[in-house]
Amino acid sequence: MKKVGFIGLGHMGAPMALNLLKAGYDLKVFDLNPTALKALADAGAATTASAMDAANDVDVLITMLPSSPHVKQLYIGEGALLQNISGQPLIIDCSTIAPDAAKEVAAAARRRGLDMLDAPVSGGVAGAEAGTLTFIVGGEASALKKGTPLFNVMGKNVFHAGDNGAGQVAKICNNMLLGIQMISTAEALQLGVNNGLDPAVLSGIMNKSSGNNWALEVYNPYPGVMDNVPASREYEGGFLVDLMSKDLGLATEAMLSSKSSTPMGSLAKSLYALHASKGNGDLDFSSIQKLFQP
Ligand code: NAD
Repeated sequence: MKKVGFIGLGHMGAPMALNLLKAGYDLKVFDLNPTALKALADAGAATTASAMDAANDVDVLITMLPSSPHVKQLYIGEGALLQNISGQPLIIDCSTIAPDAAKEVAAAARRRGLDMLDAPVSGGVAGAEAGTLTFIVGGEASALKKGTPLFNVMGKNVFHAGDNGAGQVAKICNNMLLGIQMISTAEALQLGVNNGLDPAVLSGIMNKSSGNNWALEVYNPYPGVMDNVPASREYEGGFLVDLMSKDLGLATEAMLSSKSSTPMGSLAKSLYALHASKGNGDLDFSSIQKLFQP
């Protein structure tokens, strides 16, 4: 399993691919964006002129694309990669997409005799860079076993959520919770600041109290509280508001199709949409703090 094709070299895909390269995998990469390709070429990866070239004759093909339409278009859309691919790779899609889209693409791969896993990740850009991502996997246990050496290079936790699509369901639940927690953290911090508290002092208190959570402790949204988080660089980079909105849209679809009730998730979706409508869609999602600032 040494030859790897990697398609999608954005905020997440680039550092994931770099970690595979550093671990000695023979890497062929492709992205529509030439700048993203050049960064990988400079690091020593072979770049290709098309997604098809990156996918042909590899042991494992990994994709890290923005959303369901991108993944469906690549694998089963016009010029479908799955129809024309040569070789017998294990396919791992790490994008966060709709569970139904993941099932549809995996079924097409199965018809072509290929194993496919949905393996969305948690841990953000920092986790991708450090090789400490959590992989949340849907698909056959035997395929997961084949992919595990690569997961262990790019991450430190691997969970088998169930059959194809189950990785996406678990990821959507996690991101809905994260989206809600980031908003509640931002609103609590602003309440403290508006009542005379230093946000760093308040964060320190809540970190050791019952309000502690990942958004507060690891990804603090208030500028100046933590170094090396998007809030300390004017919310550049990281996990974009538009991607969080997409994930909350996926949560809404899952809510409707399963007749569930997700009032907090629905409110969070509206608040990120409002924030995006003010021109903040391409900022990190912790910039939701700005919504509460006077
Ligand atoms: P991104 O927009 O930075 O990167 C996506 C890349 O895919 C871009 O470089 C784009 O040019 C490329 N691309 C799109 N269509 C392509 C195609 N047909 N062929 C080749 N390349 C193509 O997105 P990201 O932040 O890296 O996120 C990728 C996925 O990971 C999303 O589904 C996102 O929800 C998920 N995710 C992101 C984070 C995060 O913190 N950014 C964390 C966990 C999960």
